[in-house]
Amino acid sequence: MSGKDIAASQFERAANLINLEDYMRRILMTPFREIQVELPVRMDDGRIEVFTGYRIQHNGARGPCKGGIRYHPEADHDEVLGLATIMTWKTALMDIPFGGAKGGVTVDPRKLSKLELERLTRRFTQRIAIVLGPYRDVPAPDVNTNAQVMTWLLDEYSSRHGYTPAVVTGKPVALGGSLGREEATGRGVMYVMAEYSRDSGIPLRDSRVVIQGFGNVGSNLARLLVAEEGARIVAVSDVDGGTYDERGLDIPALLQHVAEKRPVPEWPHGRRITNDELWTIPCEWLCPCALGGVITKETNAAKLQCKVVVEGANEPTTPTADLILEERRIPVLPDFLANAGGVTVSYFEWSQNLQQHRWTHEQVNAELKATITKAYKDVRDLGKSKGVSFRTAAYAIALGRVAEAERLRGN
Ligand code: NAD
Repeated sequence: MSGKDIAASQFERAANLINLEDYMRRILMTPFREIQVELPVRMDDGRIEVFTGYRIQHNGARGPCKGGIRYHPEADHDEVLGLATIMTWKTALMDIPFGGAKGGVTVDPRKLSKLELERLTRRFTQRIAIVLGPYRDVPAPDVNTNAQVMTWLLDEYSSRHGYTPAVVTGKPVALGGSLGREEATGRGVMYVMAEYSRDSGIPLRDSRVVIQGFGNVGSNLARLLVAEEGARIVAVSDVDGGTYDERGLDIPALLQHVAEKRPVPEWPHGRRITNDELWTIPCEWLCPCALGGVITKETNAAKLQCKVVVEGANEPTTPTADLILEERRIPVLPDFLANAGGVTVSYFEWSQNLQQHRWTHEQVNAELKATITKAYKDVRDLGKSKGVSFRTAAYAIALGRVAEAERLRGN
């Protein structure tokens, strides 16, 4: 099932819950604008290779479009559209003044040198710059892109429009990035887990946590859960496999291991596991923080041995797997609630850039906590009152807000 199909099927349930009119369903499911570009890039050996890139602006009724750029061999139109759609719901659920967008380039960045990556990013920026801008569309990092990639984008855009830090978020702090942005998604996931822990009685302290993905989201989540909540991270994995220790992994040391560009499964102080095994490890909290479509009916939904699934990644659970988890009474804290910390602090970064003002790290964390906690409570309360899952309740709130903005604008 593609990202587009996943988003469509989940949309329908929530739209029925709030009796959304047919014409409004069409507006909200149809992207505002899609761009596909060809990207000829000079490689280090002199050849020119041509890549394909996408920028899809799903909806801008509530503010400038906002969403990351991903570099991945499987990034294609449908995936980018599904992710752009999720961004619309995410910004609406957090009640921040943005719409939703996403970008992607079909490329395996591990096969590119740093200079090739820079040339690719600059070319991509040139080709999509016409639809970007602080009040039009503001990209950010996603899978396989980071503060360095955002810097190239900023530099390329600014060379034509003058210095424009608010055109992109997730920048280095030295170039107008926000303190706390890098860890924000993982931190937001932790805040949502802490709230759910209070409501459900499933503790965080000394509880067992399994995390798939040890990149930006997964590694920050692991670090913060240990440092601030006293949780026990029993297994983590990356694209090459994982490592497991029932007593809890030494996360600071594992972070050091990964910082030295070594794969997680080569960590010598845990038992090596495959990414398939990871799903069956008994735990309280299971946090997919890598790619979409990893919890499926066909592979693992019936085998998970956790008390709750927390979606750090975007769209990790397919709709049919969602139903199985519902039947098994395993609650899912959905992606556009749980992982909204990144876009929330991106909003703080954007507003700091526009105001030419810098917040402290403590201020950023406090505002993030207040924003994501309020969203969690809105979702929990609606879910309880209507007897629906967290995901359906989160969709219903988000769809309602975007539909209201569309109506106010005359649609
Ligand atoms: P990243 O590139 O920093 O890390 C991705 C991690 O996933 C890496 O450890 C990688 O090895 C691992 N991985 C890749 N393929 C895998 C596979 N097949 N099996 C197991 N592990 C695999 O990316 P990130 O920024 O941490 O993003 C992870 C997820 O979180 C994505 O779904 C992204 O859309 C979502 N997300 C990210 C942010 C953010 O601020 N970075 C915000 C919201 C959502």
